[in-house]
Amino acid sequence: EAFNAAVAEAAQLNAFIVTTPDAALDAARAVDADRAAGKPLGKMAGVPIGMKDLFATKGVQTTAASHILEGFTPQYESTVSQKLWDAGAGMLGKLNLDQFAMGSSNETSYFGNVISPWRRNDGGNAPLAPGGSSGGSSAAIAARLCPAATGTDTGGSIRQPAAFTGISGIKPTYGRCSRWGIVAFASSLDQAGPMARSVEDCAIMLEAMAGFDPKDSTSLDLPVPDWSAALNADLRGKKVGIPREYRMDGTDPEILASWDAGIAWLKDAGAEVVEVSLPHTKYALPAYYIVAPAEASSNLARYDGVRYGLRDLPDGAGLQDMYAATRAAGFGPEVKRRIMLGTYVLSAGFYDAYYTQAMKLRTLIQRDFTEAFKTCDVILAPTTPTAAFALGEKTEDPLAMYLNDVFSVPASLAGLPAMSVPAGLNKDGLPLGLQIIGPAFDEQGVLNAGLAIE
Ligand code: GLN
Repeated sequence: EAFNAAVAEAAQLNAFIVTTPDAALDAARAVDADRAAGKPLGKMAGVPIGMKDLFATKGVQTTAASHILEGFTPQYESTVSQKLWDAGAGMLGKLNLDQFAMGSSNETSYFGNVISPWRRNDGGNAPLAPGGSSGGSSAAIAARLCPAATGTDTGGSIRQPAAFTGISGIKPTYGRCSRWGIVAFASSLDQAGPMARSVEDCAIMLEAMAGFDPKDSTSLDLPVPDWSAALNADLRGKKVGIPREYRMDGTDPEILASWDAGIAWLKDAGAEVVEVSLPHTKYALPAYYIVAPAEASSNLARYDGVRYGLRDLPDGAGLQDMYAATRAAGFGPEVKRRIMLGTYVLSAGFYDAYYTQAMKLRTLIQRDFTEAFKTCDVILAPTTPTAAFALGEKTEDPLAMYLNDVFSVPASLAGLPAMSVPAGLNKDGLPLGLQIIGPAFDEQGVLNAGLAIE
């Protein structure tokens, strides 16, 4: 009875779109057989994980939480998920997310929102957002439904949900994890990464996920370091940069307080703390919300009712009518908003005014980080401007939703490794996260600083 009650309670979170318990059991049995045969075991041997439903999984429905891909069963496996199975992990199921990974609260999913397992301690009982877009991943880990899960991060979708639910997650350097077989949102920004309960678990899982893949033209051809073996929370000799421009007007005092606590913890770990400047920070959010929708509008052109999933073919309709009907029925409102924004900023008359300007800003933001890392080893900042908000609180106001990404998008535009680690609870008993950003390829420095905070 207690077990059934627990299962029913877990199901209410709506974290999984489909469950695949047999796949997880098969993986565990295969590990047992290997162990009995004396064969070496992989890094993830027997670990049951959740797979964000943005990764193509052979023979298992892959929807990107959209209606347009409902019923789409890939004939191939994404590189990252295949690497995890090769390392001995087993799949518990496909996790809910914001539709096409567009969102910060998991409320744009066609399969309904995910509910965070956290509750405020002040009697305010409104269900909370688990963050997004990897909200199924964050809720499932926080609720102990799985010890780890995959996420993807285009503008914060690993870090923000991790912060909202008191777990850890790292977006590696752009190119570390292959994008092959991941439903594309904004290809120059999309990165896969692990979400888990500890920095060490993230390090181990990232070792299994990362590595060169000739099938992804932007894959990094670099060896995968043994990050978990080199974890070290002794930060003597390291410099931590505090970006002046992230002290924004209107930032919640409790976020500033948690940032100050993080500074103190890193000093205790031996680090020297220095102020740095990232002068173009205020342009990151507008640049992101031009570049990401522009790429999305192009990537999502492939959903035409012919190749994948849904087809809406009204009686007597021609090809154009079929495209229009399928896309009208298959995409949710936020996805349509992004496609309209994206096609607008890429249109002949407005390209230079918007897209070209945004790309120039992206270069300036990248240069800011290059300059800052001349005087520090890693940067410490908040992950989000507030703790988790209530479901429904921002759905009527897309701009308020986008503002939630203000601290996460700069590292995305620059392609840098960035992690969120739990940094205690606020007065309402809700988790807060702190973000560590490192120079390209230095996941180790990011993980070590994360370990010092954890
Ligand atoms: N919240 C951001 C957006 O809606 C980031 C999403 C993501 O990283 N996938 O675009």
